[in-house]
Amino acid sequence: MLEVLRRLMQAVNDADSLEDALTLIVAQVRAAMHTDVCTIYLRDKRSQKLIFRATEGLNSDKVGQFGLGFDEGLVGWVATREEPLNLEDASAHPQFQLVDGLGEEAFNAFLGAPIVHQRDLLGVLVVQQGDHRRFSEDEEAFLITVSAQLAGLIAHAELAGAIDSRAAPHAAAGDSAARLSGVAACAGIGIGTAAWISPHADLQTVPSRQAADRVSELKAFRAALAAVRSDIEQVAQNLVSELGPEDHALFGVYLNILDDSVLGGEVAALIKAGEWAQGALSQVMLRHIRHFERMEHSYLRERAVDVRDLGTRVLGYLQDASRQEIDYPPRTILVAEELTASTLGEIPRDRLAGIVSMRGSANSHTAILARAMGIPAVVGVEDLPLKRLPDQQLVVDGYNGRIYVNPHADLLARFELLLAEDAVLLEELAPLANEAATTSDGEAVSLWVNTGVAADVQRGKEFGAEGVGLYRTEVSFLLRDRFPSEEEQRLLYREQLEAFHPAPVTMRTLDIGGDKALPYFPIEESNPFLGWRGIRVTLDHPEIFLTQVRAMLKANEGLNNLRILLPMVTSIDELRAARVLIQRCHEEVITEGFSSSSPDVGVMIEVPAAVYLSAPLAEEADFLSVGSNDLTQYLLAVDRGNARVAELYQALHPAVLAALAHIVKAAHGQNKAVSICGELAGDPRAAPLLVAMGFDHLSMNAGSLLMIKRVLSAFSRGELSELMSSLSALRSAQDVSQTLDTALAERGLDRFLRRGGAP
Ligand code: PEP
Ligand code: MG
Repeated sequence: MLEVLRRLMQAVNDADSLEDALTLIVAQVRAAMHTDVCTIYLRDKRSQKLIFRATEGLNSDKVGQFGLGFDEGLVGWVATREEPLNLEDASAHPQFQLVDGLGEEAFNAFLGAPIVHQRDLLGVLVVQQGDHRRFSEDEEAFLITVSAQLAGLIAHAELAGAIDSRAAPHAAAGDSAARLSGVAACAGIGIGTAAWISPHADLQTVPSRQAADRVSELKAFRAALAAVRSDIEQVAQNLVSELGPEDHALFGVYLNILDDSVLGGEVAALIKAGEWAQGALSQVMLRHIRHFERMEHSYLRERAVDVRDLGTRVLGYLQDASRQEIDYPPRTILVAEELTASTLGEIPRDRLAGIVSMRGSANSHTAILARAMGIPAVVGVEDLPLKRLPDQQLVVDGYNGRIYVNPHADLLARFELLLAEDAVLLEELAPLANEAATTSDGEAVSLWVNTGVAADVQRGKEFGAEGVGLYRTEVSFLLRDRFPSEEEQRLLYREQLEAFHPAPVTMRTLDIGGDKALPYFPIEESNPFLGWRGIRVTLDHPEIFLTQVRAMLKANEGLNNLRILLPMVTSIDELRAARVLIQRCHEEVITEGFSSSSPDVGVMIEVPAAVYLSAPLAEEADFLSVGSNDLTQYLLAVDRGNARVAELYQALHPAVLAALAHIVKAAHGQNKAVSICGELAGDPRAAPLLVAMGFDHLSMNAGSLLMIKRVLSAFSRGELSELMSSLSALRSAQDVSQTLDTALAERGLDRFLRRGGAP
């Protein structure tokens, strides 16, 4: 059964339209279960009817012609209760109902299963049979499994269908069906044209598109073919001594697939007919893969793997070549399966109006990068129909985590208004750049900036940051294809230190692992967030740590505003071991003739163990800094990068707030300063509370600085203390958020919270 399921999923995945997908499902389920009938009803959101959408065994002329209410027939019964119904004699059920002309009279046995996706009922899947018999438990379990697995694919195909119909000229003005939901990752509105970037070649996601120039597309295809041929010949050559002549001959067969007389010719013909090379390749390859996958003979079925592999290789070359040529529209919305630092870097900053990705969540590192760049972003849009989006007009609502595809004129006008209001708000905040952050009664608050790329330094200074609370050194490591040398690092670090001198610059030692993988230092683990991360990696690789610290100390020469911060510390031993290495580096650079003072060394509090150890850690370190992103993840056991549990990732959870209060008390008990550098520091709701708790510095993305200055200036010291005590009795994150929302709203600051952009 697993094999049947796998093939069914693959076939549905490859289908060109929702109709094709549904037709395939009913045919394959009926065949697999040996029933007389298989039917799918899908819920129409507007009419709230269960529409008869596909059938194998009933009257197919009725497809699309009628719908059942939730109180009608057995299908309505299954939909209302969202549970399966297994009947030996359907007509004996009190809710049984016949639809004229459907041809159900001959069937007695009935088995229906709801199709549910993310708590949302999409429809009902039904099988029927003439015999008077109850379907077996195995059959029932199979239908439930099929329906659960198909739910995601159907949701995806429905959205794709909605997008196609909105792109059509007759799309209705009130139709808001082509709206997708995800996780808001960077506040703001982005309006523009979608451009798709795939970090790795994937035949499945290539959109169909008209070739701008058929001759050059054909040339590109031929060049990609030649490159793949030569790669494979090279592989064959390398294996010549290991393989016998028969096995070796397989490479010849493999290469033949690409010949003009086989698939190559078909692709070329499609290009000549006007399709661009990537689209033509993907269509031909997917068609043949489907064909092979349906074959009964296992040897032939395996050929599907070869065709997919070859197609992917050719596609990889085509994408590499076209990437250099893409002319991005002036307002580009980057659409990707997964955002990476390098895909972000591919589009010139002044053309990037928004970001949308299938994976990731608000606190994944790419989302942080998007925020650092100040680009409205929605991530974790699980049902993103990548193929349909390129060249379509998109609105990215980074306040509410929604995107709209080809919005109608009214909706577009409303978002354009919001965009204009945002610009006005920015202008209003601009004068705050030169003012220090204070409470309404004049007490100073220290705001620092988090940096990663060069632009952060410039924006941080521009908006009046009083220092750098977190320089994520790994960002420059992530953007390279090898470890940077000591001298390369020294130059980078010098820029940061000089830019803010004499204010402090807090440099975090390399924090890789988790969701941050260096392309040239892969870490393969089944549970990376609990694995080899942060200081664990660098203590195991002192050569990496020592090089980095030496570069920092040398960069610090004559400036002496460097502070060093250690990520992911869970024990006092790690702090001690790191201090020994830092001390050794310091002695070395002094011996080499550099005059660099010994920097303060701080510990990031990011895991529960460090919360409980914060007093001894504060005693032995020079300062503490709370990484609330990881701390929230580890305290609540919620993966910060997993969109499915994004709603459970609540940085205002009372447990997190209790931990924060504990850390501040522990640090101050040792007379050490404590800052917070996670995203919470730049959250307009949280910032007043953090100041009330006693954090000495809030360190945030440059884009949040002015807004936080404005928010803090609306609270007096006394009001901050009151706010804190009113929160201490609250037991849920929702209650905390609501209280903070109200406090902001009372001061006219709700403009900074997420706003309802559209229906
Ligand atoms: C944190 O975890 O809060 C933090 C600041 O570090 P990063 O987001 O880089 O993991
Ligand atoms: Mg962290």
